[in-house]
Amino acid sequence: MKVYNEEDYLMLSGIQHFAFCPRQWALIHIENQWEENVRTVEGNIMHKRAHDGPQIETRKNLVVSRQIKVYSKYLGISGICDVVEFKKCKKGEEGIRLYGREGLYKVHPVEYKKGEPKENNADRLQLVAQAICLEEMMCTRIEEGDLYYGTTKRREHVKITDSLRQEVENICLQMHKYFDRQYTPNIKRTKSCNACSLKNICLPQLSKKKSVHNYILKTIKDGEL
Ligand code: SF4
Repeated sequence: MKVYNEEDYLMLSGIQHFAFCPRQWALIHIENQWEENVRTVEGNIMHKRAHDGPQIETRKNLVVSRQIKVYSKYLGISGICDVVEFKKCKKGEEGIRLYGREGLYKVHPVEYKKGEPKENNADRLQLVAQAICLEEMMCTRIEEGDLYYGTTKRREHVKITDSLRQEVENICLQMHKYFDRQYTPNIKRTKSCNACSLKNICLPQLSKKKSVHNYILKTIKDGEL
C-alpha cells in the first residue's frame, strides 16, 4: 500500500468538494479559486461555533474533544475534526485508553454542518475520512459517527460501512492523480450547479460568454483593429 509523505497531504475537507463536483474541488484546491456565498459564510460560522468553548470537556462517561488535528498517511490527507467524542466502553467492548482515565473508550467523530441532511453522500464521506484518520492515528476501529446539522439542530447517525470507506479511498486516489497533473476536469452542468459556491467563476458557465481577451484576439486576427 502506498504511503504518502507529509508534504504531499491534501486537505481532508476537499473530499466533500470532490464528492459534490470534481471540478469544484480542482478549482478550489488546485487553482485556489474561492467565492463566498451565503452557504459558505453560514458554514464557516457553524464551524467556528463548533470550535468555540473548551477544547476538552468531560461529562459522566463521555470526554468531548474539539479541533483535533488528524491525518492518514495511507490516504494522503490531513485536516481537523470539529468534535471527537470518547464514550466509555461497556464491559467486553473494545476501545482505546485515555491518559489519566480508567477503562476503555470508543472513538466517535461528530462533524458540524450548516443546513440540513443532503441527498448526496458528500458530508458522510468527509466524516468517514475523519474516522479512517482517527483509526490510523489511534490504532482502533470506528463503526459510527454523527453529522450535526444547523438547520434541523439534529444529528444524523452514520455507519462507517465498507462501501463508504472504499468510496473515500477512491476519491483520495483520484484527488492525488488530478493534483499531481494539476488537472481541472470539465464537468457537464447539473442542477447541483445552482447551489455551487463557484458557479460564477466556473469555466463551463463563463465559456458560454465571450471573454474580453478572446474578443480582442479574434478582432485583431480578423483585421478589424
Ligand atoms: S458550477 Fe457546476 S460544474 Fe462548475 S464547479 Fe460548480 S458544480 Fe461543478
